[in-house]
Amino acid sequence: MPDVLVLVDHDGERVHKSTYELLAAARRLGDPAAVLVGTPGTTVRLKDSLARHGATSVYAAESTQVGGFLGSPAVEALESAARQVSPAAVLVSATTDGKEVAGRLAARLDSGLLIDAVDLDASGVVTQIVFGGSYTVRSEVTHGVPVIAVRPGAFEPEEHPVEAMEHELVPVPIAPAASARVIARRAPLAGDRPALTEASVVVSGGRGVAGAEGFKVVEELADVLGGAVGASRAAVDAGYYPHQYQVGQTGKSVSPQLYIALGISGAIQHLAGMQTSKTIVAVNKDPEAPVFGVADYGVVGDLFSVAPQLTQEVAAR
Ligand code: FAD
Repeated sequence: MPDVLVLVDHDGERVHKSTYELLAAARRLGDPAAVLVGTPGTTVRLKDSLARHGATSVYAAESTQVGGFLGSPAVEALESAARQVSPAAVLVSATTDGKEVAGRLAARLDSGLLIDAVDLDASGVVTQIVFGGSYTVRSEVTHGVPVIAVRPGAFEPEEHPVEAMEHELVPVPIAPAASARVIARRAPLAGDRPALTEASVVVSGGRGVAGAEGFKVVEELADVLGGAVGASRAAVDAGYYPHQYQVGQTGKSVSPQLYIALGISGAIQHLAGMQTSKTIVAVNKDPEAPVFGVADYGVVGDLFSVAPQLTQEVAAR
């Protein structure tokens, strides 16, 4: 079976769920081979969990300097591994960073690039969301190693233990000093909620929430469901909720098991970020709101009446 390279998303201590999803997707095409970029010692800490989820080998690119650079070490490591093993495909998560890495890598390898993949089959045909979610198309890379950015949540993570994992260190050339480098990082907002792109439940609020105070209702429902909080761009632009929680074309893409939209009209740019969710529930007081066109369950009503009842009902179980 050919190798399929998977770029590992991690925080140095823990592999992110999106990587396990990529490993499950990679198994459809060949043997998943993880490519891990981190500071020295990261591979030793993370390789067992990668093996448990089906990685047959790890290409580890370790350097004390990787944290100081943007996507370039990941691109270097993936390129180096790809030139060594001629993989069937390279998979990365379709996050903001992942898409940048995928684009640069495809240019380096002179390969075709498929973004926002939500499904793929053994022949390499990929189902992807295009034009801000307006269409779902089936595409195939016809030149070079396919570089595929897969939407977080599109695949189920699966345990698939591998007993004897290979472990290879790929040297990472560090970009010259003149290229872009990180000078400061803002710590993520504190909180116990799961990350938006990893959560199996996302509860989002829109302009209908009518203010930062109103988001308490959204947060309370998210908390009883163990979910993450999201927001529409209108809510973010109005200052109701921070930008890092924006869902949509210019925000994050999510595909949770359950997405609850509170006071969100369902503009195409919002749908682009959430319409691949497995089950969508919409609460809106306008029965004509476009969000009902994609919702599996719709409640026509005032979110300030419906959401607290839902919270109470779930909390009572
Ligand atoms: P509105 O469209 O104003 O809808 C509010 C809804 O709340 C209405 O349907 C109303 O009936 C309902 N409502 C009001 N009060 C209540 C209540 N008490 N109870 C129940 N329902 C109530 N948008 C995004 O979300 N994400 C993006 O990434 C994004 N990217 C964009 C990129 C571009 C280039 C452009 C042009 C636009 C983008 N937008 C994005 C903006 C998008 O077009 C919409 O303007 C936005 O999604 C609207 O947000 P909303 O649904 O919260 O607000």
